[in-house]
Amino acid sequence: MPKSLEEQKRRVIQNLVEAGVIKRKMVADALLKVPREEFIPEAYRDSAYVDSPIPIGYGQTTSAIHMVAWMCEAAELKPGDKVLEIGGGCGYMAAVYAEIVAPPESAVKGHVYTIEIIGELAKKAEENLKKLGYLDRVTVIHGDGSLGFPQAAPYDAIIVTAASPGAPKPLKEQLKIGGRLVIPIGSPYYIQELTVITRLSKDEYEERGLGGCVFVPLRGRHGWTRD
Ligand code: SAH
Repeated sequence: MPKSLEEQKRRVIQNLVEAGVIKRKMVADALLKVPREEFIPEAYRDSAYVDSPIPIGYGQTTSAIHMVAWMCEAAELKPGDKVLEIGGGCGYMAAVYAEIVAPPESAVKGHVYTIEIIGELAKKAEENLKKLGYLDRVTVIHGDGSLGFPQAAPYDAIIVTAASPGAPKPLKEQLKIGGRLVIPIGSPYYIQELTVITRLSKDEYEERGLGGCVFVPLRGRHGWTRD
């Protein structure tokens, strides 16, 4: 008999804790709270807690669960943080960040801004987040996120969920001092290095590579296409 989605979810998160991918309880709790099955196309509902990327239409995918966990840890997200995500997709990852930075039971209120370049996906992400009551903690923007979102800068963390040729200057400049930019850098069709860039002072940055990953290409001004 197939296990319930709830059971599968607990199992996959427990595995990631045991493997050391999830390091902090707040990350495990956030992943436990957000129903991935509500963000993905109906046809994939039964596979919602398979730890792999899932197609979300328009040639795009939502990241595997371990990748979501890895990015939350790499960005050192914590309650109160203001976060910018480039590549909103279906809105799932934005909801996970929101559970960490603005937990509903806490007085500390962070916020998540997520930018998506494909209009239909931006609309879908907003619908998904609205249905689940996240729009007080997440703002969805339709546009080219490779330019960042200066209107709400500076950010504690900027997370890019698409493969980039390098670290776009506007994103580095929209970090707070001490802020973290998490970005897959490398080839658009093969493998990238998940990179964390920490802003040490106005002009100094520290860069660390964490390991290989695979993302869909970043588009836009500082991406692989100039649209
Ligand atoms: N974080 C997403 C998954 C990201 S998939 C989720 O939770 O589902 C990567 C997304 O980045 C795709 O939807 C793609 O359209 C988007 N994207 C690519 N280039 C972009 C850009 N310059 N600005 C904003 N979004 C971009």
